[in-house]
Amino acid sequence: WAKAAGRGQWAVYDPERSARDIARSALVAGLPAALDRGEFVLHYQPIVSLLEGSMLAVEALVRWEHPELGLIGPDRFIGLAEETGLIVRLGEWVLRQACHDAERWWREFPDARLVVSVNLAARQADDPTIVETVADALHTSGLPADLLQLELTESAVMGSADEPLRSLYRLAALGVRLAVDDFGTGYSNLAYLRRLPIHCLKLAGPFVEGIRADNAADHRDERIVDALVRLAHALELWVTAEAVETGEQAERLRALRCDTGQGRFFGAPAPAGVITARLRGDVSV
Ligand code: C2E
Ligand code: MG
Ligand code: MG
Ligand code: MG
Repeated sequence: WAKAAGRGQWAVYDPERSARDIARSALVAGLPAALDRGEFVLHYQPIVSLLEGSMLAVEALVRWEHPELGLIGPDRFIGLAEETGLIVRLGEWVLRQACHDAERWWREFPDARLVVSVNLAARQADDPTIVETVADALHTSGLPADLLQLELTESAVMGSADEPLRSLYRLAALGVRLAVDDFGTGYSNLAYLRRLPIHCLKLAGPFVEGIRADNAADHRDERIVDALVRLAHALELWVTAEAVETGEQAERLRALRCDTGQGRFFGAPAPAGVITARLRGDVSV
């Protein structure tokens, strides 16, 4: 009878919905074992100087090499890992692996001083042990603190209380860099910018997407980027534009004085070996 109620009104049984729920709960159930079996891998995406074209940093982006489903992107499991709390363990693995890889790059290519940028979920940043975990990851790997950047979203920066997370001051005191990820898409007020030891703002993809010639009639995204870059520079912060897909966008962003860019135009996320080859000066990658 549920079917007779018409499309979109299936109160009793919705095969599509339940298939999705089953797939979702199968993924959730598989996460802890996947971590134990070492099925997660890090890909790295270059963050490039818009002025000089040199690779200054790489962002660590986690992927799941699922034995049956193949490579699964973080959009499909990070949310689940946050809900279940597994993000704290997964995030710690990401942090340690990223520090380990970055220390190798630092040893092999000391002049490049390549920074590794690691995403911190709100739940991780909120965890009371985060400062010791980061300090230990640095100590164990031997990576200099200033070659590690931590990316937090605006809501993670603000935490659950109405003030910036206390642990961020202690993280900054370790000497690591702090970046605000997806800047301009959250709902938080900007008060934290007055007080927090932040080093970099990462401008969210949608603003960058609006920068193109066929959008000439509407310069709003360009004006927003212009204003945000000025705001960042007035506060002595670096600016990274995310999701740079074309040379034209890179050129416009450079004209707007944006410092660095990240996106397919400069290189897609790739295994560590691809970054090593780039540092070696292999232009074919
Ligand atoms: P994010 O931190 O904002 O990362 C940037 C995303 O933009 C990445 O998606 C990257 O692959 C994608 N991207 C790269 N180039 C382009 C481009 O030219 N155009 C567009 N439109 N997008 C581009 P990805 O790898 O799927 O990661 C998605 C999100 O998952 C990340 O967004 C981040 O929030 C989260 N994430 C990834 N790895 C981790 C992690 O280790 N820990 C935590 N907590 N979150 C992670
Ligand atoms: Mg994705
Ligand atoms: Mg990020
Ligand atoms: Mg982002």
